[in-house]
Amino acid sequence: MASKTKQDNQCSIKRVAVVGAGVSGLAAAYKLKSQGLNVTVFEAEGRAGGKLRSISHEGLIWDEGANTMTGSEMEVRNLLDDLGIRQKQQFPISHKNRYVVRNGKPILIPTNPVSFIMSNILSAQSKLQIILEPFLWRKGVLEAGTNTQESVGGYFQRHFGIEVVDYLIDPFVGGTSASDPESLSMRHSFPELWSLEKRFGSLIAGAILSKLSAKKEKSGDIKDSSGKKKRQHGSFSFYGGMQTLTDTFCKKLGKDELKLKSKVLSLSYSPEGKSVLENWSVSYASNHDKHSQVSSFDAIIMTAPVCNVKEMKITERGNPFSLDFLPEVSYMPMSVIITTFKKENVKRPLEGFGVLVPSKEQQNGLKTLGTLFSSMMFPDRAPSDVYLYTTFVGGSRNIELAKASTNELKQIVTSDLRKLLGTEGEPTFVNHFYWSKAFPLYGHNYDLVLEAIDKMEKNLPGFFYAGNHKGGLSVGKAIVSGCKAADLVISFLESSSDDKMLKEGQS
Ligand SMILES: Cc1cc2nc3c(=O)[nH]c(=O)nc-3n(C[C@H](O)[C@H](O)[C@H](O)COP(=O)(O)OP(=O)(O)OC[C@H]3O[C@@H](n4cnc5c(N)ncnc54)[C@H](O)[C@@H]3O)c2cc1C
Repeated sequence: MASKTKQDNQCSIKRVAVVGAGVSGLAAAYKLKSQGLNVTVFEAEGRAGGKLRSISHEGLIWDEGANTMTGSEMEVRNLLDDLGIRQKQQFPISHKNRYVVRNGKPILIPTNPVSFIMSNILSAQSKLQIILEPFLWRKGVLEAGTNTQESVGGYFQRHFGIEVVDYLIDPFVGGTSASDPESLSMRHSFPELWSLEKRFGSLIAGAILSKLSAKKEKSGDIKDSSGKKKRQHGSFSFYGGMQTLTDTFCKKLGKDELKLKSKVLSLSYSPEGKSVLENWSVSYASNHDKHSQVSSFDAIIMTAPVCNVKEMKITERGNPFSLDFLPEVSYMPMSVIITTFKKENVKRPLEGFGVLVPSKEQQNGLKTLGTLFSSMMFPDRAPSDVYLYTTFVGGSRNIELAKASTNELKQIVTSDLRKLLGTEGEPTFVNHFYWSKAFPLYGHNYDLVLEAIDKMEKNLPGFFYAGNHKGGLSVGKAIVSGCKAADLVISFLESSSDDKMLKEGQS
């Protein structure tokens, strides 16, 4: 009797396959495992982490993918607590000091009304337009946001004028998505701001009101040495770089639960008999074995980029499930260049987070998208006599340059840093990493991508999609997406088990 119960329990443990070991897949897998499910993560590459990629080399630490994240989402804060990783969080020094280039010179982005008035980042006319925005854009006064295809540039131009787009929005979207204001859809890129206009009319008034109401919730609480709760806001990384987060997820998964060098080739859904479970077969190519292998699962969480999903073969009840309806997604290519300079060779070092370069500044000979002052933010990332910089090149602004040679990129970065920070001579160290598909473009037809994902989920029972193609590009948003998919899998499996019991009872 006892052994039968044990057998029953083992049989009732559901098996879920997660495709992709980026931060979204790992967050989903961790959540499923904590709920007692049996999970297997398949990762095509020989390492986990996806776009989180930290390198430690001869006293230097740098990130080749995401450099920081925020804890604005509740799911992220909860996950950091559950993982026990709070003590490894690393908050940047002077993170509020961020610069944007104007007329070839870095200018501090104002963070309060007084510094805004004093700043020469914008003309008096644009400043006035910003100050008047809450009065001009009262709810219902104008027909706001009716064009669902509106670009990010068009939207901000309506509220604040073209100068704000050129000198604030353009460098921001260049630095966070390697794109440009005209190519991005406002509704998909900034859904919160999109709905803010609908709710409040004015973006400024809406942002202030929403911030006030969410203030209590939005804090990254950590305890200081006296045990009191200390609030830390804004961006952060981890000691050792962002990959510390994905490494921590991996440690929580068992060795057999994470299959590296295991590229998923095909998925097959074939429900058998009365059972609505164990319907999925995943075939994957493992480097250890030339032949593909097959495993069975009750549900799938797909986090591979849409371009990789398009390459997979899916069959449904023995018939090919054509993925022709999945549209081509455009991806932004980008190179990440790490340089170090002796401190004595940097004549105008800036303290803070980093500097962004608007497209307009190309006319002043600047070719980079922006540079993070990595060792200013995190002094343990380089020896004390050295500055380490992380510079981004490419994106929609300069697609060809993204894939230039290391030597060419070194010249470009050295030239820009000389103009902006007064660096002298050659960098003492250079590292280059090229992402051919750094970011999916949330363009004007992104609806089609989301509809296609929806169609897959509706037509394939037990198939759920997560990751940065759905719901946002940031690390935080990718985590939220993974957590949501895990929740959906759990409810799906619960309802499927109920159905199965019902059917068994009826027969
Ligand atoms: C250079 C750069 C800088 C960035 N900076 C920041 C930043 O500072 N802050 C921020 O919040 N965000 C940043 N981002 C964005 C953020 O890092 C990503 O959006 C996020 O990490 C994506 O996570 P993901 O899990 O959705 O996808 P990915 O990390 O892309 O993971 C998908 C995984 O699926 C795997 N895969 C693909 N096909 C298959 C297959 N057939 N079988 C098995 N596995 C497969 C891939 O190998 C990959 O590991 C940056 C991104 C880049 C590229």
